[in-house]
Order: sequence, then C-alpha cells, then structure tokens
Amino acid sequence: MRRLPVFFLLDCSESMVGDKLDKMQNAMGAIVSALRSNPYALETVYMSVIAFAGIAKTIASLTELYSFYPPKLPLGGGTSLGAALETLMDELDRRVVKTTSEQKGDWKPFVFLITDGRSTDKTENAASRWQAKYAKRATLIAIGLGKEADFASLKKLTENVIIYEEADKSEYTALIKWISDSTIAQSKSVGEGVENSPLPNLDEIALKLVKEPPANADDSCVVLVGRCQKTKKPYLIKYERSQTALGKGEHRAEVVYYDTVGAFMIDEDYFKWSQVQPSAITVNTSLLSGAPSCPYCGNHTAFAMCNCGKLTCASGGEAICPWCGVELFFGGEGGGDFDVGRSLG
Ligand SMILES: [Zn+2]
Ligand SMILES: [Zn+2]
Repeated sequence: MRRLPVFFLLDCSESMVGDKLDKMQNAMGAIVSALRSNPYALETVYMSVIAFAGIAKTIASLTELYSFYPPKLPLGGGTSLGAALETLMDELDRRVVKTTSEQKGDWKPFVFLITDGRSTDKTENAASRWQAKYAKRATLIAIGLGKEADFASLKKLTENVIIYEEADKSEYTALIKWISDSTIAQSKSVGEGVENSPLPNLDEIALKLVKEPPANADDSCVVLVGRCQKTKKPYLIKYERSQTALGKGEHRAEVVYYDTVGAFMIDEDYFKWSQVQPSAITVNTSLLSGAPSCPYCGNHTAFAMCNCGKLTCASGGEAICPWCGVELFFGGEGGGDFDVGRSLG
C-alpha cells in the first residue's frame, strides 16, 4: 500500500507558553479525530510530529493514522527553524519510501510547518538544502501564527505561506478545519490515483496567503524564566507588548511597554529544549508593567532577582536563591529599575 506521509513541524518556543501551547495541543487532537473519521485518510495517512524550540526533535515518528496518538508538546527557549528543517529532511530520507523501477513508493509527503516567531538559528543552509533536494518531493505549507512569524524565511522555502490571525481569540477552529480538509482532499485524490490535488480555498477571514513578506513586527512578548524558592521548580513569566499614548497635541507620544500575562509552571524538560542563552540579551524592568505571583507557592512576586542574575519568587524577608544557593534578603523598597536576562522566544 502506498502511504501518504503527513509531517507536522511545530514551534514550541516559549512565546507559546500558556494558552497558545494548550490550544496547539488540542488542535493536534482535533486534527487527528477529523482525519480518523474519513475513510480515505484512514486508509492512506501516516503522521509524524517534529517539535522545535532551542533544539529540534522528532517526538512522534511516522505512524499509521489509526494508531497515532498526538504526543505531549514540549516547551523551550529559542526558535530553531534551521534545525527543525534539517530534522525534517533527515526524516524524509529515512522514513519515506522512494519510487524505484521495482516498487511504487509513498505518495508525495505533506508538511505543515506552524510557527509564531522569528527563527533564532541560521536557516540559509537548511533552506538551500530544501530547495535543492526536497522542495519538489514534498508539499510544504508554512503557517505563521500572527504577524511575528518569520515570513521572509518561510517564503524562501515555499510558495504556500499562510498567515493565521485569529490565534488568540479562537480555538484555532479555522486552522484545524483547513489542515484537516487539505489532508483529506489529498488522501482522497491519491486514493483515486492522482498525485496532486489543489489545496482547498482559504477561509479568508482567518487565513490569508502571504504574497509579500511583511516587515518584521516588533517583539510581541517578553518571557523570563525563574524558580520558586520553596519548591525550586521552574516557571515562566510572560509579558505582552502594549502601547499607550502619553500627553496631548504635539506632546503626544506613543509609549511601548510590556504588560503582565502571568506566571506559568513548566517542567525541567524546558532546559533540555532551550538554546544556551547568549547572556547579552536583556530587558530593562522599566519596560515591564506589573509582576505576577509565584504559580507554585503563592509568594506575592515571582519577580525577585538574586545577584547571580536569576529570578526567584519572594514575599519579603530571608530566602535562599534556588539557582545559586546564596542567602538573600528582600526588604523595604525595591532598588529601582534593572536589567534582566531575557529568553529567546
Ligand atoms: Zn514560589
Ligand atoms: Zn542566585
């Protein structure tokens, strides 16, 4: 039987922390059940998931649809699109059966690449390798969640670059439907012996084809990592970009700042999935508005900094830094604004 391999390349960088990652996890489940209810898909589709953050890794290797279970998505610092593409190409070489004079190989694989940010590693080599050997062998559909996606890099890979702009409001409904519909259309088409079916129309409200890559938007969020001083467990604090007008008339100025979204529990796997941080990237606390409480112990701020430069939670008084073990005392007024090392997103 000729299989229709479908690969998902999913951005699990820390800007996805909280709601977005949960929704992506649910979306994978919804896509799998939509496909399973279709007899053509059930007969031909094999699925695989590659996750990327600071590193890239196959978290579900190519499996037939009826026994495929969506894997738990990791979370890490960084957006290694280059590494993700290399992993994909290695998988295509290893898993996909080529057509030879003796045998009919698999159908042309479908690849859905979903990302919400700018890549933090080099993508040029991976992009040239892709164009030279793989672009014709697989159908790559790149989907950017919102304006911060790296459309310029995505355009170098494929004509099929789509911007999805409902990411925060909806439950990815339009996206789930379109991905399921295109996969089902393709499996029906190969079921009838036709290699290439056109992609279904985009629901223009939520999904748009990107013709010219837009100018890169500013960072939409700032994410910081900390550890609870009581449980020693890690968390992420997320801030989202906001803008406000100060003054009136000719003195009016737009001021950009970052507003608290919350603090989220993460697991130790986060560090395995993160890129080693260049220490030079910092953000000044004057740009950050508010501080959430600790998601583990309820200490009133998750934003207390040790001299080692790392964040912990505190409610005043004595504490031991969960990163470096030094004794700390948090008391009185804060010492003004300071720079903290930020993650890569
Ligand atoms: Zn705590
Ligand atoms: Zn410390």
